[in-house]
Amino acid sequence: MTTHSAPRRLRHLVLVLGDQLDLWASAFDGFDPAQDAVWMAEVAEESTHVWSAKPRIALFLAAMRHFAEVLRAAGRTLYYTQLDDPTNTGNLGAELLRTAQTLRPERLVMTAPGDWRVLQAIKTTAAAQGLPLDLRDDRHFYATVRDFAAHARGRKQLRMEYFYRAMRQQHGVLMDGDQPAGGQWNFDADNRESFPKTGPGPVPRPAQFAPDAITREVIVLVQARFADHPGSLDAFAWPVTREQALRALDRFVGERLPQFGRWQDALWPDQPWLWHAHLSAALNLKLLNAREVVQAAEAAWRAGTAPLSSAEGFIRQILGWREYVRGIYWMQMPGYAEHNALGAQAPLPAWFWTGNTDMACLRDALGQTLRHGYAHHIQRLMVIGLYALLHGVQPKQVHQWFLAVYVDAVEWVELPNTLGMSQAADDGLMASKPYIASGKYIQRMSGGSLCAACR
Ligand SMILES: Cc1cc2nc3c(=O)[nH]c(=O)nc-3n(C[C@H](O)[C@H](O)[C@H](O)COP(=O)(O)OP(=O)(O)OC[C@H]3O[C@@H](n4cnc5c(N)ncnc54)[C@H](O)[C@@H]3O)c2cc1C
Repeated sequence: MTTHSAPRRLRHLVLVLGDQLDLWASAFDGFDPAQDAVWMAEVAEESTHVWSAKPRIALFLAAMRHFAEVLRAAGRTLYYTQLDDPTNTGNLGAELLRTAQTLRPERLVMTAPGDWRVLQAIKTTAAAQGLPLDLRDDRHFYATVRDFAAHARGRKQLRMEYFYRAMRQQHGVLMDGDQPAGGQWNFDADNRESFPKTGPGPVPRPAQFAPDAITREVIVLVQARFADHPGSLDAFAWPVTREQALRALDRFVGERLPQFGRWQDALWPDQPWLWHAHLSAALNLKLLNAREVVQAAEAAWRAGTAPLSSAEGFIRQILGWREYVRGIYWMQMPGYAEHNALGAQAPLPAWFWTGNTDMACLRDALGQTLRHGYAHHIQRLMVIGLYALLHGVQPKQVHQWFLAVYVDAVEWVELPNTLGMSQAADDGLMASKPYIASGKYIQRMSGGSLCAACR
């Protein structure tokens, strides 16, 4: 499906992937509507190479279709293949080849893909067509892949903490001159409380967005085309446009950030949202830029509406962990997914795909995962991941599950978190210690509530 009249001579075909939905991306630098056009494709393989859950598929497709509208409104010629187009081959490389053969652009231009597999597919297609491929740095990240490699060079051991401090200094985030704001780098001692027996008390309602006509059409398509995939779409309410994502950011900073640090690690049954941001999917699809999220959190602290401990705890996740795992991913690929330092070989239990288990903490975390495509970090790490680790599940199967079920799941961030942080499969490369605990941890962090609900 094409919109706007195609340029007679096509100089650049700008490729936009489902997680590159930003009109100001580097791929658009120098875009000339008279000579250039944009290409996007919905391909089934992206939902089937792992058995993707319905909320994840719907989010990507809905956000892509909304972004296509933004491109059209901006007057850019767009070649867009829908999933239900009868001529769709279902494969990214094959779809690109088809378009490139028809349009014969002089050059392909894109912001570097986040995932290694996708980069290979595009490089292969470009080479097969003898087309130059102009890969540009992704400005959504503070550090380039080269910056991280330079940081890692010569170090015997990589540690997130040192990388994070260097990032704070380099980018002037939460700094007072050359000193960390508040005189310390880390406020964990003030954060991470467990809930009392009386529970979390009133939790603000999350920012949710009723599906519009475009999203409703996607939901119908996903229900029909991926009927046998896990998860449900009854509660789908994720931001699918930049405007919605900005509203979600505002709501988070105003309503949740002040309590974020304190309850960052706490758990409670039937409380999927707590004081977390729920912004990872919007960040990963590039509806939001990491810089604007970090700046909003710092501004809230400077304005006195959020304590430094919360702002720092939150910023550490984005400027620290998010950038760090991306650096590790690109340093380790290909081959990272094959690591299995503990030799774990058990198959993933089938109930991971249904949530049908007697264990209350797992039932709770898996249930909300399948319903919303969301679980917060401690549920992923210390409930679901911990169970898989203790059970000895093969890390690659754990990785494929985590990549399939979350709305924010893209490999560059999911794989290091699963394989490195959660399953300790990379021999201590990513994290200084394995995250192993007994049920006592879950009992403590949930004020006993999850264990009381267990059989
Ligand atoms: C096994 C496992 C798998 C994970 N898979 C993913 C994934 O596929 N995609 C993903 O975005 N995150 C993943 N994470 C990291 C983290 O759990 C999610 O980013 C977070 O739960 C998203 O919810 P939130 O937006 O409410 O985050 P908050 O808790 O409010 O944190 C704020 C932001 O910080 C960033 N962040 C927080 N922790 C991390 C982390 N460890 N690594 C990278 N960024 C982080 C996210 O962008 C998040 O939106 C995974 C963690 C584990 C343990």
